[in-house]
Amino acid sequence: MKIRGARKTTGVASEFERRAARAETLASGAPSSEEPLRFAAGLYRAQGRLAGFVEAAHADEPLTGHLDRDVGRFLDRVPEILRYAADAGPEPLAEDARARREDPLETRRTRLLVYWSGDRSSREDYLSRAALRPYAETLRALTVPPGRMHTRGRCPFCGGLPWVAVRRGGSQMEGARRLLACALCGGEWPFDRILCPSCLETDPRKLPSFSSEQHPAVRVEACETCRRYVKSLDLSEDARPIPEVDDLVSLAMDLWALEQGWERIEPGLAGV
Ligand SMILES: [Zn+2]
Ligand SMILES: [Zn+2]
Repeated sequence: MKIRGARKTTGVASEFERRAARAETLASGAPSSEEPLRFAAGLYRAQGRLAGFVEAAHADEPLTGHLDRDVGRFLDRVPEILRYAADAGPEPLAEDARARREDPLETRRTRLLVYWSGDRSSREDYLSRAALRPYAETLRALTVPPGRMHTRGRCPFCGGLPWVAVRRGGSQMEGARRLLACALCGGEWPFDRILCPSCLETDPRKLPSFSSEQHPAVRVEACETCRRYVKSLDLSEDARPIPEVDDLVSLAMDLWALEQGWERIEPGLAGV
């Protein structure tokens, strides 16, 4: 039996709106990160519109989770993401977005499929990650598993890379659980505290962490074996932050880490 007009929405589009609002709230109080936060707010809104479109497409005919079969359903909406990045993004991202707006449809499709099938991080392709996130997050909300590889250290749902870690629960930092947050589908999964998500190093002597007085809830959790790090936010004291958004407030720590020769496992929304 079909119930008309009573379709339950996944809420994915409103999640994007919630992130946009959080980015705007933070922007006014974080002068050094104001630009990336304002850019993120607009990107989230563009992604929210795309997510609404993907969800509507699913209502017409269910998504399969196989991008090669699903991509045609939303490919003509991808230029909206590119247009926003071209108009509001920092250089050289904006330049890249302007160039891609001229892509023939087949090239646009191929770019997304290459990103989806490979294990590259958004350091090489920020725009494909931005364009695919609404699709990946909608699949997660619908529990339609995507056909992507899952290895340890990657998202158990979609195989995406962790772009931020979260410590939650427990009144003391030492007792908090560590979760990794996926840059592609937005999901979170528990992960050992003494374990590098990139190379799976477990020796605590090789896993230093760095903090700064300016951002006491934030740590750069690094690994001397692979020279990578993940940014970690302690949310035990404050439940308001949205990790991937609040991450931008401490952008200065990423710039510091970069100077020290560390590479973030998966760049955040600022592309660093
Ligand atoms: Zn994921
Ligand atoms: Zn490592």
